[in-house]
Amino acid sequence: MKPDEAVAALAAIVGTEHVVTDPAQLAPNLSDWRGRYHGRALCKVSPADTAQVAAVVRLCAAADLKLVPQGGNTGLCGGAIPAGPDQVLISLGRLRRIRAITADTITVEAGCTLAEVQQAARAAGKLFPLSLAAEGTASIGGNLATNAGGVQVLRYGNARELCLGLEVVLADGRVWDGLRALRKDNTGYDLKQLFIGSEGTLGIITAAVLKLFPAAKSRVTAWVAVCDPAAAVALLDRLRAQCDERVTAFELIGRTALDLVLAHIPDSREPLAGRPAWSVLCELSDSSSEAGLEGCVEQVLADALADGEVLDATLAASAAQAAAFWRLRETIPEAQRIEGPSIKHDIAVPVASIAAFLARCDAALQAAFPGLRIACFGHIGDGNLHYNPSQPAKAANEALMADAEAVHRIVYDLVHAFDGSISAEHGVGQLRRAEIVRYKSPVEIELMRVVKQALDPANRLNPGKVV
Ligand SMILES: Cc1cc2nc3c(=O)[nH]c(=O)nc-3n(C[C@H](O)[C@H](O)[C@H](O)COP(=O)(O)OP(=O)(O)OC[C@H]3O[C@@H](n4cnc5c(N)ncnc54)[C@H](O)[C@@H]3O)c2cc1C
Repeated sequence: MKPDEAVAALAAIVGTEHVVTDPAQLAPNLSDWRGRYHGRALCKVSPADTAQVAAVVRLCAAADLKLVPQGGNTGLCGGAIPAGPDQVLISLGRLRRIRAITADTITVEAGCTLAEVQQAARAAGKLFPLSLAAEGTASIGGNLATNAGGVQVLRYGNARELCLGLEVVLADGRVWDGLRALRKDNTGYDLKQLFIGSEGTLGIITAAVLKLFPAAKSRVTAWVAVCDPAAAVALLDRLRAQCDERVTAFELIGRTALDLVLAHIPDSREPLAGRPAWSVLCELSDSSSEAGLEGCVEQVLADALADGEVLDATLAASAAQAAAFWRLRETIPEAQRIEGPSIKHDIAVPVASIAAFLARCDAALQAAFPGLRIACFGHIGDGNLHYNPSQPAKAANEALMADAEAVHRIVYDLVHAFDGSISAEHGVGQLRRAEIVRYKSPVEIELMRVVKQALDPANRLNPGKVV
């Protein structure tokens, strides 16, 4: 089939207005959020439902075209960017229905934004706890395909742990209906786990059954100045010991990251004086309104202050103030984008090793690249840090960017030495394809290739990504 015949056949499936070939209209879908990847595609096609997704996949198989799934295009590893004239970008944005909601589950289509899923849960008096800064744009299909984490993993787990069932269109166009709402099902391999985190390389997720939780009735949000990352981890231990599973989020924010927000994000104000080197934003919540949560947090902070672990702390006095605290954390990626390039890392090490890892990694980088500054922030309760070096001066920063490979090697070799992960939550995409081969064992890489070969023998789905 010639390319124009394939485009016409796709239009016959989804309707002419849902196939885009015009370069200007395609452009936003062909660049990633960080502007690092600029791709090419035969066209963008936007099916309306699972049957149309399946028909598009079958047509692409017959026409020997590749398929690149895209949700909100907020991914940070270039996974959703197609890279050739034989690639069809399949947008899930029209699969937008909330199919069902029960007391403890919600069944949604892949193109719903994360915010829409949260809102549907809220309207039913429930909580869907996955939460990240891109939630207004990111799709639930993309969240599952990247096994997204975010700020509440500490308490509720990442996307994988929040998913009970999936509906997936396979590489040959068949539909696997795994939309089960079961918390127990030991009838063989747990197939949904293969597709979660596979970044569109094994199947196209069209719908999911997700877990719901009781909505929070009380919430305490605190901004805390700590002397160093070890003190932050010690504070987390105290909070967990005293307030138990009610610790919902616990974010570490380094001075450089906070300074970028204060410089670039309008109306941002630091909650505490003294310009501490490290701050913690933590949130505790309870589904009861009589939980004595505030008293518990105040007591923990007073004890930590007395023991010198905490330098200063303030509790948000209103929902607006809590939102202002969160804005400081959630606009860090945007502030970095405005500031200019930095070398991005999304790493995890065991929580107990964070302080030692940071001390060694900071020292090794400073020795190799004097004057370097590191925007370090992230989900310290999960051992996950975003660790992004740059040089303050433009020319020096350009030189550093040219040496990104050497920076990665220092950081990733140390992450590996600490038994960590070189991609805690953003995934592999195009960005870290070579890196995973370096750090995973040959057995693990071989197992990944065997799975890919079994589910997508023609390498039709998202070629050039992950494996
Ligand atoms: C400001 C900002 C903050 C972020 N914060 C976090 C964070 O805290 N935690 C975190 O984990 N991530 C974070 N991210 C990245 C995160 O991975 C994405 O925001 C989100 O999970 C991806 O969803 P998306 O719909 O945009 O996917 P896309 O970018 O469209 O796609 C991402 C990958 O999934 C595949 N894919 C998309 N939809 C499907 C589908 N239906 N079926 C199969 N494959 C599919 C794509 O092919 C691609 O490989 C952040 C991103 C931004 C821009």
